[in-house]
Amino acid sequence: MNKIYLDNAATTPLAEEVIDAMVNTMKMNFGNPSSTHSFGQEAKILIENVRRQLADYLHVTPAEIIFTSCGTESNNMIIKSSVEHLGVERIISSPLEHKCVSESILDMKNRKGVEVVYIRPNEKGDIDLNKLEELLKSSDKKTLVSLMHANNEIGNIVDIKKIAELCKANNALYHSDTVKTMAHMKFDFSDIPVDFASCSAHKFHGPKGVGFAFIRKSTGLKGIITGGPQERSLRAGTENVAGIVGLGKALELCINNMEAYADHIREIKKYAIEQLSAKVPNIKFNGRSGEMENSVDSVLSALLPYKDPLIGLQLDMKGIAISQGSACSSGASKPSMVMMMVLTEDEMEHCTPLRISFSHMTTKADIDALAEALAEISKDFAIEKTNVEHR
Ligand code: PLP
Repeated sequence: MNKIYLDNAATTPLAEEVIDAMVNTMKMNFGNPSSTHSFGQEAKILIENVRRQLADYLHVTPAEIIFTSCGTESNNMIIKSSVEHLGVERIISSPLEHKCVSESILDMKNRKGVEVVYIRPNEKGDIDLNKLEELLKSSDKKTLVSLMHANNEIGNIVDIKKIAELCKANNALYHSDTVKTMAHMKFDFSDIPVDFASCSAHKFHGPKGVGFAFIRKSTGLKGIITGGPQERSLRAGTENVAGIVGLGKALELCINNMEAYADHIREIKKYAIEQLSAKVPNIKFNGRSGEMENSVDSVLSALLPYKDPLIGLQLDMKGIAISQGSACSSGASKPSMVMMMVLTEDEMEHCTPLRISFSHMTTKADIDALAEALAEISKDFAIEKTNVEHR
């Protein structure tokens, strides 16, 4: 069976060049980068080259790039250290954040007594920046704003520059979870006064188990993993040299092909919206994902007009991989908080959300196969006129 992968928001396939670069590093550069002999120093040079490459990409200094094991670790470090080391007493966030952000914030609330304020998005998943400004002005407490750049379930994207400027004007720190957008678009942090950002290599055809945190030097953030002096003492632990090299190679490929990849993914999303709308009666798209603006093109969040909790399994049996929520919560019994924000109670009860996510490797034939499969499955459901209340 020809297998079709449409779950690129969960993880992306590794690029061949990334695998080659990593295998070569594992064979040739096994030294510990902290060792002073040539084996260690050769490994260290590889790491520093990738750090320089990332600094150039983001228009920051290499000292502001801290390698970590993943996006989850980067976000934990930024939120927890902001409270523990920078005296943050209040966090402004939203219910749309990835669990690694929302759970870190909750932990700081429970263990450190931090005040947490959530901005509830509207039914399209938009965050009201006037509300953010009002909140920023309403308290003298040292504040961290944690609002993700693009949402991993509905694709909504926020104006990172506008938020950063609002935070700066109101003396608040700003953390943007950029896991969904890093390497997919250009960033210039010399122009965007964001304080912290996060990245995970497996979201752009790099390996799992490696990411980085951007930490603006002026913040003075410290690490939470103690031990050796690796990563300028911000993140102890022997570096994942092959993983970092893989991250660098994946970034290089994304930067060199950025426009071509983006154009292709945009075309695929447009095609998917057309095909699914034509073949699946009464399908809807959630948040801003059905629009070609204000959302990332790689995510299409659909809503089937009937309840089918086994849809993921049914598609999987036809060789098609999609997600029914984000990968991190799809095994959970609780409905996703993001879906609760953008769907009506009726839709939650009677409909089925699907996350379809693309990469530059996705083809129109993949979309045709998905549309056919969904059309067939939908036929089996008597599409009763349930009078589901949509917004
Ligand atoms: N933030 C967002 C928006 C994500 O989509 C994910 C992963 O799905 C993460 C953070 C966590 O990244 P990692 O899988 O590298 O821990």
